[in-house]
Amino acid sequence: MSDLSGKIALVTGANRGIGSEIAYELGRRGATVAVNYRGDDSGARSVLRRFAEAGVSGASDTFKGDVVDAASCVALIDAIVARYGRLDVVVNNAGITRDGLLVRMSDGDWDSVIRTNLTGAFFITRAAAKIMMKQRSGSIVNISSVVGLVGNAGQANYASAKAGLIGLTKSVARELASRNVRVNAVAPGFIETGMTAELPQAAREAALGNIAMRRFGTPADIAAAVAFFASDDAAYITGQVLAIDGGMTFA
Ligand code: NAP
Repeated sequence: MSDLSGKIALVTGANRGIGSEIAYELGRRGATVAVNYRGDDSGARSVLRRFAEAGVSGASDTFKGDVVDAASCVALIDAIVARYGRLDVVVNNAGITRDGLLVRMSDGDWDSVIRTNLTGAFFITRAAAKIMMKQRSGSIVNISSVVGLVGNAGQANYASAKAGLIGLTKSVARELASRNVRVNAVAPGFIETGMTAELPQAAREAALGNIAMRRFGTPADIAAAVAFFASDDAAYITGQVLAIDGGMTFA
């Protein structure tokens, strides 16, 4: 199990779903976690309760911040550095869907998904990179999607944002490598969370038929890989995209 003792980590959108599990997993492995939320902090506080129940000690705390707002992202990073003195790991997890077929997709649904899923990661990464470059160390993990690799009917906005996140990952990996800052992405397949719970049964069954392992993924499946990328076990890995999809997209 990759050890994250002594590392300060930020997970965006960590009040529920995959982000909440990633925050928990990083903390379980020894990191001090800034558990980000944008509105109600009750979900974020439940991560701290899980730490307490598991006997994970430390100074992890909840931090408010909305990734669609550049100033909010800067304030979030500043607050973490003011509190802990450094920032070692950033997980750009916050994301939304506004699905619809292309010809019916509104400008608003296009813009909001790009703004949250791609521009939000850019705002956070830009602010965090300044700290990590000075430290000459850091690991950024972007939560993309297999949809960003292979596309999906009804998700032109989401697929474009998630594909863009892969471009962001590889470009920033090249820019920051000489400062010992690594940037990688994971591309989850179909993971059981609130995001996928609303899908019609027929769509769920069709998705299952495309998964070689014949099961949906869990947030814990994603969190384990993120913890690896965040850790020094991945010290020589940058610019990579790992699909975690039970065998949905391999060629
Ligand atoms: P989820 O349950 O809907 O959770 C999304 C999280 O993002 C929530 O905590 C949400 O906060 C937060 N968020 C949304 N907009 C935000 C903003 N502007 N600022 C800060 N936080 C914001 O989704 P999930 O399934 O856990 O997905 C997590 C990530 O994995 C997303 O990037 C998603 O695209 C990606 N992913 C998921 C799947 C899947 O099958 N579930 C597959 C591939 C990739 P609120 O509670 O305030 O809304």
